Amino acid sequence: MSNSTLTLNGISKSYNKGKANEVHVLHEVDVSVNAGEVVALVAPSGAGKSTLLHIAGLLDVADTGHVSISGTDMTKLGDRKRTEARRNDIGFIYQFHHLLPEFTAEENIVLPQLTNAVSKSAAKIRAKELLETVGVGHRASHRPAELSGGEQQRVAYCRALANNPKLLLADEPTGNLDPGTSDQVFDALMELVRGSGLAALIATHNLDLAARMDRAVRLDAGRLSDVVL
Ligand code: ADP
Repeated sequence: MSNSTLTLNGISKSYNKGKANEVHVLHEVDVSVNAGEVVALVAPSGAGKSTLLHIAGLLDVADTGHVSISGTDMTKLGDRKRTEARRNDIGFIYQFHHLLPEFTAEENIVLPQLTNAVSKSAAKIRAKELLETVGVGHRASHRPAELSGGEQQRVAYCRALANNPKLLLADEPTGNLDPGTSDQVFDALMELVRGSGLAALIATHNLDLAARMDRAVRLDAGRLSDVVL
């Protein structure tokens, strides 16, 4: 059996289908990401990167093709099962942190675990461990507004991994940060990802960051190909 965590097979997607302004965004995209593998998704703006990540993350549905997670074809599942898979199996990171402003860093990481039936004490222990791993353990009781941009992103990474997902999908996870901070925060992300053994697909414009991942694929005009960096 393959150890592929994420497999996209023949994924195509258009917007405004059948209308004069139809946009063909993805054409027959195939990609697999194995457990423990970190793959860079490099794409110019407008190439369809967010669309691809949303389809892989079961937030959007492709017109054709299949999305499998750990061997299960998610395209065949109903809404309830897809929502369950999103909550249990997939972690998301965006360019902006989207932390809840009225809660502390720790609470932002505890809350998704409570939704997942983890006890409060276990959730707090996990939150503290994650925050320590990314170097912001000392900021656990701070609210997002009291944190720097880099610290906010580190907390968002911890939240994405709180429920031990199998798959991490990240859309420009350091895109909002200045170059120096971006490098350090990316190191923190790699530390988390490498420690967890999950599969990660990480979109970035930054070729230096892409070169630090295991391999890279490029999305151009909706077509995906392997690239050597
Ligand atoms: P990227 O993330 O690579 O910048 P997107 O996946 O967001 O690209 O978008 C790819 C293309 O699809 C763009 O041309 C965009 O304008 C178009 N697009 C995205 N979402 C929609 C939508 N809901 N309706 C129509 N066109 C869309």
